[in-house]
Amino acid sequence: MNEQLQIKTALVLGAGGFIGSHLVKRLKNDGYWVRGVDLKLPEYWETVADDFVLSDLRDANNVENALKLYTDKNSPKNSISSINNEHVLQSFDEVYQLAADMGGAGYIFTGENDANVMHNSALINLHVSYYAVKYKAKRVFYSSSACMYPEHNQLDSSNPNCEESSAYPANPDSEYGWEKLFSERLFMAFSRNYSLDVRIARFHNIFGPYGTWKGGKEKAPAAMCRKAVEAKEGDQIEVWGDGLQTRSFLYIDECIEAVIRFMRQNNFRGPVNIGSEEMVTINQLAELAIKISKKNIGILNLSGDSFFEKYGFKCPTGVRGRNSDNKLYFQKMNWAPNQSLTIGIEKTYEWILSQF
Ligand code: NAD
Repeated sequence: MNEQLQIKTALVLGAGGFIGSHLVKRLKNDGYWVRGVDLKLPEYWETVADDFVLSDLRDANNVENALKLYTDKNSPKNSISSINNEHVLQSFDEVYQLAADMGGAGYIFTGENDANVMHNSALINLHVSYYAVKYKAKRVFYSSSACMYPEHNQLDSSNPNCEESSAYPANPDSEYGWEKLFSERLFMAFSRNYSLDVRIARFHNIFGPYGTWKGGKEKAPAAMCRKAVEAKEGDQIEVWGDGLQTRSFLYIDECIEAVIRFMRQNNFRGPVNIGSEEMVTINQLAELAIKISKKNIGILNLSGDSFFEKYGFKCPTGVRGRNSDNKLYFQKMNWAPNQSLTIGIEKTYEWILSQF
């Protein structure tokens, strides 16, 4: 008698978010049975998850329910509310922990949301690591962030160091980064003490269509595209700070590909960077969006007192320089992202334009 699902199963925590909703789509394309959990449904498209649970993962009971997978021999569609003796408890093949309280610079670098960011995300990770062991999840992916790298290695905009081994001595420039560092260690501790099979990646600025593009939680690429779409001929678009701070941006499809490759190999648990090595200044990013818009638009760099007068908080520009270092990923996976930023921004611009 074989009552277990014959297809692979995946749980995506944070499935209503930007990366999570793209990941659900990829897992469905790969033929998985997928459960998504989030506080909200995806905002810009319909989820394709087989089962989508709206719940708050800060609550331990909700995390426990999310990790319980009951199946019956007749139906690959399952519902935790329809449990009876015919159902069998089985383990998820892949669990992706993406749920976090996060947003762009205006959310995580102003200091105003520090307590919530740390408390909410740490609670989720504490519950997920514990119940993943209890319900024998076969492998767990944890999305950390480049924000955990020490500030002192990112002061030179043209030569930042984000090699995985540079993480310690730790000195992230935000509480968001400290929580990521704590949770990396938490998942590694569960790996050591309870044999939880983990994969930990540090994302560097992921962007693309179907992501937040307005409202304050959007990231720089979406913000620049939106501003360029909104601007009229002769206008200026606002860039926070002097615009000479550097970053790299990875297009969502390449991010998902990197996650899946990392998750489905057996030899390396990370932490490893997942990002692009094409470093640009934020002004260059704005210029790219302007070029794509084909409009005659200028850039207004806003900082110091003028910024404070307008927004009521200090200009949150983050570290001076940051770039992904993909040597380790390439060495272990023999693959690395290589799509140009221009192509990704073009696709993102088109999608944001279609939202108006
Ligand atoms: P996102 O904000 O779009 O997705 C996170 C999701 O988590 C949201 O849908 C949110 O509703 C959900 N969530 C938050 N609190 C929850 C709770 N209490 N219960 C249930 N769900 C909850 O962010 P994203 O860009 O998709 O990022 C996914 C993960 O990757 C996050 O952990 C983030 O920290 C990490 N990350 C992202 C980037 C990036 O550039 N996008 C960079 C570094 C790290």
